[in-house]
Amino acid sequence: MTESRQTRLQVKCPTCQTAVVWEPKNAFRPFCSQRCKLIDLGGWADGKYTVSDQTESLPEISEPDGAYR
Ligand SMILES: [Zn+2]
Repeated sequence: MTESRQTRLQVKCPTCQTAVVWEPKNAFRPFCSQRCKLIDLGGWADGKYTVSDQTESLPEISEPDGAYR
């Protein structure tokens, strides 16, 4: 039984469970990507980063001052 020359260590991305090869060029290990790393850090995992109200806000302030007289 011959082993392959370089045994690649594989880990699973903690965020999305993708198999990630642990190698120096993978800067985000054990994550598969920067995005998953940020998610795990709790940066924008739960919708903090989403623009919530774009449709409902923007009240019309341009009211003519002769409305109530
Ligand atoms: Zn991932």
